[in-house]
Amino acid sequence: MTKLVGQGVLQPDFDASPISADTLIVGSTIVTMDGQRRIITDGALAITGDRIAAIGKRAELERMVTAREVIDGRRFVITPGFVNGHVHLTEILIKGFLPENLDFEEGVWRWVTPLYESHSPQEQGIAARLTALGMLRSGTTCFLEAGTVLALDAVFEAVAETGIRGRVGEWAMDRAFSPDQDQTASTDRALKILEAELIRYPGRDGQLLAAWPLLIGHNTNTDALWRGAKQLADDHGAGISAHMSPAVDDPNWYLANTGKRPVEHLAELGVLGPNVSLTHMVHVDSAEVALLAETGANVIHCPWAAMKGGYGSTAVGLFPEMAAAGITIMLGTDGSDTTDMMRPMALMAGLFKDARRDASIFPAHLALEMATINGAKAMGLSDRIGSLEVGKKADFVLHDTDRPEWKPLLNPVNHLVWSADGRAVHSVWVNGRRVVDNYRCTTIDEEALYSEAQAAAEAITGRSGLPSICAWPVL
Ligand SMILES: [Zn+2]
Repeated sequence: MTKLVGQGVLQPDFDASPISADTLIVGSTIVTMDGQRRIITDGALAITGDRIAAIGKRAELERMVTAREVIDGRRFVITPGFVNGHVHLTEILIKGFLPENLDFEEGVWRWVTPLYESHSPQEQGIAARLTALGMLRSGTTCFLEAGTVLALDAVFEAVAETGIRGRVGEWAMDRAFSPDQDQTASTDRALKILEAELIRYPGRDGQLLAAWPLLIGHNTNTDALWRGAKQLADDHGAGISAHMSPAVDDPNWYLANTGKRPVEHLAELGVLGPNVSLTHMVHVDSAEVALLAETGANVIHCPWAAMKGGYGSTAVGLFPEMAAAGITIMLGTDGSDTTDMMRPMALMAGLFKDARRDASIFPAHLALEMATINGAKAMGLSDRIGSLEVGKKADFVLHDTDRPEWKPLLNPVNHLVWSADGRAVHSVWVNGRRVVDNYRCTTIDEEALYSEAQAAAEAITGRSGLPSICAWPVL
């Protein structure tokens, strides 16, 4: 329990007893994202072990906290770590190789899937570590993987080293598209994969990394797999995510094969709920929005990817209506063109203003909620992360304001969304551990990883047999 002391200082409820902390950061502007969304100027934050021990005005904390290390935080704005709701951990090595002008089906099946399959387990580990590094260096402290990891053990090992928090799932799809495939065997195999990963990497006892039964989604999962995955998620206190309706193909397929739109079909199966998040959700109608709200399912939107892929999110997307209906919207970076959550955050704040010619849609503070507390809520982790409050895990970011894009500092929320990006992230703590310090990752050798990634990317793209396409001659 906590209580308010003095000028809105939160401290544990043992009153006058001094707080002994490992680290005390003083003098910062702190955007707490707590229940009242308080922004503390000349603030301070104390960490003990893996948790926030105290947060409030500097003068109050300096009186009541004794810390082994005191950091002068006057040049920093502190926010909770960002939560990336949809990231493909093992796609980064082919970033830049994929042509832009592909329709969705061609992109996925002719390019992305064969390139994924060209990665060795070791190369998947390199990709995942580089993606985790990109996230940490731009202020993301927790992620939800997209369910496209083939070599789960290699990826777990590679990512665990970085110190990031996240949920990962092994590639699971089961639909037998050709008559010579055994549908029952395919579903059984997928369910075994999901169950085995939950047992191997459980989320209990506060592990930073754990497995969830993540589905590829679209039309690749049978009703039996959906039901089985939901049951497993419920039994293990986990969540599910799945891709759905980035293009018209998904609604068209569901209408042709089930007579219902995707969300209607999933609602009828009984597999939607607060631990289920559907990714993209561009081609969704208002009846589906109502069903999402009714069932408590979450929506993950990736505006950067939607824009690049020409999904039509600003033309037909009902995201403002989803937010108005009370649906929790979180943001993701999706493919690895960017791992910086501050880019989709800015796009989310801007795209619908422009599309609807209404500058009141998704103000900066709502976009910041989507990238922090909403993500924590949709992942079932809002008791631990997503805001800076006493007792929560110490997952937070120091944004360096000694940079042109942060000057002059008048409103930190507007700066975070409209002016800054992840390149001003100076330091990052995850679970009480300083994993980025003065623009450098403390847990891994960045230069060694860059060399490994370059060599692996050249090997994978060479091996794939796919052409390297560039509009201009490369000499
Ligand atoms: Zn995706």
